[in-house]
Amino acid sequence: MTDAPGQMFDHAAQTMPVEARREQQLADLRALIGRVKDASPQHRAQLGDIDPGDITLENLHQIPAVGKKDLREYYPLEMLCVDKSELRRIHATSGTSGRPTIVAYTEGDLEVLGRTNARVLDAAGAGPGTPVHNAYGYGLFTGGLGLHAGIEHLGACTLPISGGMTERQVLLMRDLGTEILTCTPSYAAAIADYLAQHDIDPASLPLRAGILGAEPWSEGMRESIEKGLGITAIDIFGMCELQGPGVGFETPATKGQMFVNEDYFYPECIDPATGETVAEGEVGELVFTTLRKEAVPVVRYRTGDLASLQRIDDPAGRTLITMSRIVGRADDMLIVRGVNVFPSEIEAVLLDDDRVSTAYTIVIDERGPMPSMTAVTEPAPEVATGDVPALLRELEHRLRDRLGVSCSVVLAEPGGLPRTEIGKAVRVKRWKSGEDSPFPGLLR
Ligand code: ADP
Repeated sequence: MTDAPGQMFDHAAQTMPVEARREQQLADLRALIGRVKDASPQHRAQLGDIDPGDITLENLHQIPAVGKKDLREYYPLEMLCVDKSELRRIHATSGTSGRPTIVAYTEGDLEVLGRTNARVLDAAGAGPGTPVHNAYGYGLFTGGLGLHAGIEHLGACTLPISGGMTERQVLLMRDLGTEILTCTPSYAAAIADYLAQHDIDPASLPLRAGILGAEPWSEGMRESIEKGLGITAIDIFGMCELQGPGVGFETPATKGQMFVNEDYFYPECIDPATGETVAEGEVGELVFTTLRKEAVPVVRYRTGDLASLQRIDDPAGRTLITMSRIVGRADDMLIVRGVNVFPSEIEAVLLDDDRVSTAYTIVIDERGPMPSMTAVTEPAPEVATGDVPALLRELEHRLRDRLGVSCSVVLAEPGGLPRTEIGKAVRVKRWKSGEDSPFPGLLR
């Protein structure tokens, strides 16, 4: 590591003047297109006879984009742009429909995975030897080993605990003096619930920060987790097609804006319907080009994730462009009685109210001709015996105001809903005719 003591990790790259960065990005983009256009059937089909010398950052949007479906056609490794002898690791996501998405790494790609995640950990306050409790799932999912690579790259100390067995997690955090927790926000909320249920004061744990991501979460969820664990919680964004975690990250001073590691992942933001570039600060679909990836690079990959891009003044001097929180996924959008609803909007209403817990599931009842929507959550323990009907009426009223369509609310017993300990939380359940109730006793 060449950084001076006390200086931001990878300081030169993170604070490079914007113009110099653009020159570097253009050079990398042309080199990438030259390198991959004939290297795999996918890239040949997408890039045809494009001359890399004609490409600029301004006309990049004219290259046809690819999406998850396109990439699946080239399963398992038909997109590979290097000789198989150069591969060092393979990850995959289960995906929702059959074939997994495969991602492969060369030694260089693994170095980037480590470096970009080290930037995130450094931003959260980790340094050499800092005890980091990595409760993202290890295995084919990129989360566990992705953060692990960053922790090792930075020289911090990993506890590779993966998800599950919350009691043991809390014991080890306390006994090992863990300072930083890395896991999904839903698991962080589950750990906070565990502390509350067992009367463990969060101040008795030395935890100070959490790096939470891989799934959507709201500001309300952040507040609950920060309070419940006594930490500052920052967001991290990534996806398997680009490398896994470490594509974007907040810092404690820039909450709400995630720096994009744009020297590796060049972002664009487009109107999902027309494909036109949207203005800075406007929400659209994020599209990324992996400027320096070797094994399985993507050119103009449409993520399905909706967010905005914006330059901000970072008090620490980073010049990387930022992305907002993910406001939704184009394919997560629920259409209920003709109204578009994102689960994150329901979460925002529920978690804005201290009287309900962070655990919730949205059930779309599709048994009849007109689908209906119910949010199933739990009361906070002190509310369980209070005026529950008034609470439900208030929540339903606020949901209707925010969503423009009605959403009933029902309450399980405190602690009665399942917590996601491993993997990503599943927030939406579709209830089809002929199926049993997803919450017998609560929904009929
Ligand atoms: P990974 O295995 O790295 O989580 P996946 O490909 O399984 O990657 O999932 C990536 C998707 O997860 C993203 O496209 C996005 O929809 C979601 N995601 C990841 N991080 C966040 C985040 N911080 N906020 C909201 N959604 C996120």
